[in-house]
Amino acid sequence: MATAMTETLSAAEPVDLLSKFDPIIHTRETLLAAGVEDPFNLVMEEVLSPTRAICNGRDTILLGTYNYMGMTFDPDVIAAGKQAMEDFGAGTTGSRVLNGTFRDHRDVEAALREFYDMDNAMVFSTGYQANLGIISTLAGKGDYIILDIDSHASIWDGCAMGNAEVVPFKHNDVEALEKRLKRIPEGAGKLVVLEGVYSMMGDVAPLKEMVRVCKENGAMVLVDEAHSMGFIGEHGRGVAEEQGVLDDVDFIIGTFSKSVGTVGGFCVSNHPKFEVLRLVCRPYVFTAALPPSVMASSATSIRKLMHGGNKRAHLWENSRTLHGGLKALGFKLGTETPQSAIIAVIMPDLEKGAMMWEALLKEGLYVNLARPPATPAGMTLLRCSLCAEHTADQVQTILGMFERAGKAIGII
Ligand code: PMP
Repeated sequence: MATAMTETLSAAEPVDLLSKFDPIIHTRETLLAAGVEDPFNLVMEEVLSPTRAICNGRDTILLGTYNYMGMTFDPDVIAAGKQAMEDFGAGTTGSRVLNGTFRDHRDVEAALREFYDMDNAMVFSTGYQANLGIISTLAGKGDYIILDIDSHASIWDGCAMGNAEVVPFKHNDVEALEKRLKRIPEGAGKLVVLEGVYSMMGDVAPLKEMVRVCKENGAMVLVDEAHSMGFIGEHGRGVAEEQGVLDDVDFIIGTFSKSVGTVGGFCVSNHPKFEVLRLVCRPYVFTAALPPSVMASSATSIRKLMHGGNKRAHLWENSRTLHGGLKALGFKLGTETPQSAIIAVIMPDLEKGAMMWEALLKEGLYVNLARPPATPAGMTLLRCSLCAEHTADQVQTILGMFERAGKAIGII
């Protein structure tokens, strides 16, 4: 009997569904065969502070964690999480719309409303899910999404999930956006999706002009402020605040995984019908709510960020020093001037990029190696994200490491 079964199963050779990834497997194997440490398999064995960890056995400065405001080790943030874990247990075991809304889920949404001075806030399990959920729920079949070609993967995935017509335009190009908007049939639903800071190159969107063009053409606007919350703008509300257009933006998307220092995603809005989204947004309804400890830590962190003016000033100082220093050393950077806490160092190719990444790691510095398809124009980048907790001395040490590694690899 067993033989008959085995014969039936082995009769037809299945098409290997993983074979489409052979080119990626090959690129990776070639890279590792050259003896390079695997840039996508780093282990943080011990985390000493927001700016230092033991990685692969080495004491390492962290310059690629998006931990912009250094809140991961804030004593109040940790204490709030510990207390909520004691009081409410380890997890929610349920969706927000069933048994998964605890005191601290409500509180973190209140903290977001205070932070942005907006009427509504909705928390998701990640920023990825916030984009997936909000974009796919707002714009469905027959609607149009007009988005920057360099948008984050979660934005593209949200577009795909909602079945709207997707119309990309050239990165940060106001005229291209306006042209696309004017071509959309009259009466159709239009959602323009923008980001405050684009995370690959660290450049900022011209939101003032873009939001004006959107309003003139009857489009709703969503801005993902993942990389600007907590840092950019007088109150740290992001690029829309900095450029004076926050009141004209219909939906702000954000994440807790960067300046807030925890995990989670959110959408805030003044739209009077916003609350209905809790009932119809599938990535909100059909997944478990975040643990109460994460919510309590996040609420504490967000409220502390409201008073983060000094930290913001120091982070700008760090960004200016690193940008100016790398430029003076002869590195090619993603932006002419420092525009955010991200500084992208452009590598000649993937091989040199991986060698430089490894040389920096051996010096004791962790940065992100980014390559296509995540990067624009097929570029290989070493992305540096600064933290308000990096000291001025650490920034000088980082510059020394870049100089030695860059000369050893022959990039400068
Ligand atoms: N939007 C942007 C612009 C991002 O860069 C990211 C994450 N890198 C996300 C959304 C997703 O955030 P999360 O890590 O919370 O899923």
